[in-house]
Amino acid sequence: MKEKEEKNKEIIMDSQKRIALIAHDNLKDDMVAWCEKNKEILRQHFLCGTGTTAGLIAAKTKLPVEALKSGPLGGDQQVGARIADGEIDMLIFFSDPLEAQPHDPDIKALTRIASVYDIPMANNRATADFLLNSAYMNKVYVHELMDFDAVARKRVKNISEIMKDV
Ligand code: PGA
Repeated sequence: MKEKEEKNKEIIMDSQKRIALIAHDNLKDDMVAWCEKNKEILRQHFLCGTGTTAGLIAAKTKLPVEALKSGPLGGDQQVGARIADGEIDMLIFFSDPLEAQPHDPDIKALTRIASVYDIPMANNRATADFLLNSAYMNKVYVHELMDFDAVARKRVKNISEIMKDV
């Protein structure tokens, strides 16, 4: 077995989750219906989402959803930045597998960064159902992230030397 070279860092997810909601255009009705169906659970957590998705959910379900920019205008990148800053615990992203999106690079970046930070991420309704009904939804959850400083040190051999005077 390969020895663990980096020390992992513990990330504590509170019992009240910070959930980001995103749906591509063909799946927005599904997202609204899913939120309506799960309103009582969702109400116990903090919600945000890309502009149009968040606006529709808030208007149709009356759930409080913080609206970021619309996805094609940078909303997916904002969600990604929040994940990197440790401000989002979970991503519910109804992505359209049958239609090309103009902001495909942003979507790839978002799903990649969600993987990097070990964020539970549902890309379709069934997975979203499983996530929302997980026993961890109402409990503190501790997960481990790799030590990114150690990764950077390994990648850029003399980084410690370079950074020592900064
Ligand atoms: P929207 O963005 O909620 O603003 O439509 C979603 C997306 O396409 O990423």
